[in-house]
Amino acid sequence: MKYIGAHVSAAGGVENAPLNATKIGATAFAMFTKNQKRWEAKPLSEDNIRKFKENMEAGGFTSDQVLPHDGYLINLGHPEEEKREKSLNAFMDEVNRVELLGLKYLNFHPGSHLKQIPEEECIANVAASLNTAITNSKSCIMVIETTAGQGSNLGWRFEQIAGIIAQVENKERVAVCIDTCHIFAAGYDMRTEEGYKNVIDEFDRIIGLKYLKAFHLNDAKSEFESRVDRHHSLGQGNIGWDTFRFLMEDSRLEGIPMVLETVDPDIWDKEISRLKELAGESV
Ligand SMILES: [Zn+2]
Ligand SMILES: [Zn+2]
Repeated sequence: MKYIGAHVSAAGGVENAPLNATKIGATAFAMFTKNQKRWEAKPLSEDNIRKFKENMEAGGFTSDQVLPHDGYLINLGHPEEEKREKSLNAFMDEVNRVELLGLKYLNFHPGSHLKQIPEEECIANVAASLNTAITNSKSCIMVIETTAGQGSNLGWRFEQIAGIIAQVENKERVAVCIDTCHIFAAGYDMRTEEGYKNVIDEFDRIIGLKYLKAFHLNDAKSEFESRVDRHHSLGQGNIGWDTFRFLMEDSRLEGIPMVLETVDPDIWDKEISRLKELAGESV
């Protein structure tokens, strides 16, 4: 079965995320477990955790269907040790929140070299940060997101992601999320059937399909190969519906969270039901 949903709001408490997902007919969802624009956050209370788990169960969600996203300030590849450590501490807090909520994944952007260090050094920093986070936690799988390669962000070439995974000691604890807008902006073209096949084959050859554990389903306002990260509603941008049909029809992509981060939350329910139709799931 395809798990399809959106990055829903957790305003008012994490326990609201599964409720918001249920309202739009989602069978998957992404969420932040704290304010994504701040370093500090109140710890999750027992009340938050209990209600979250109750609402997960009521909505019929398991941990396989949920893809928490980390905060925007974190840069695990930061060139300066002190700032990298600050990021790592914040990341470990995110990992801890995920585990307290009984969830499985934590989705994050690999990091930025800020034009201060070579790419390889940044990749090694990210991997070292992940090794520390993995050693100091129980079960959370760290899900590296493909990026658009805007500015000095790494993770826009499959080779860079493979380079991080190669240096992670416990490979059971690392996975990859493809963001369709990001890879399009980075120069991977899935607009035709042949293009789709080639990109997935390339992913398999360079990273390995066994690491592919999540999708962000976004159309793109940005142009192909522009390295600019601008999401659009499905079918309204430069990617078009065909790509999303290829994804929905691909039987290799069952049982993983596939979530919208598209720009108009008011039509998420429609986007989800169209995707479900394409996947042959009941709407
Ligand atoms: Zn992201
Ligand atoms: Zn994304």
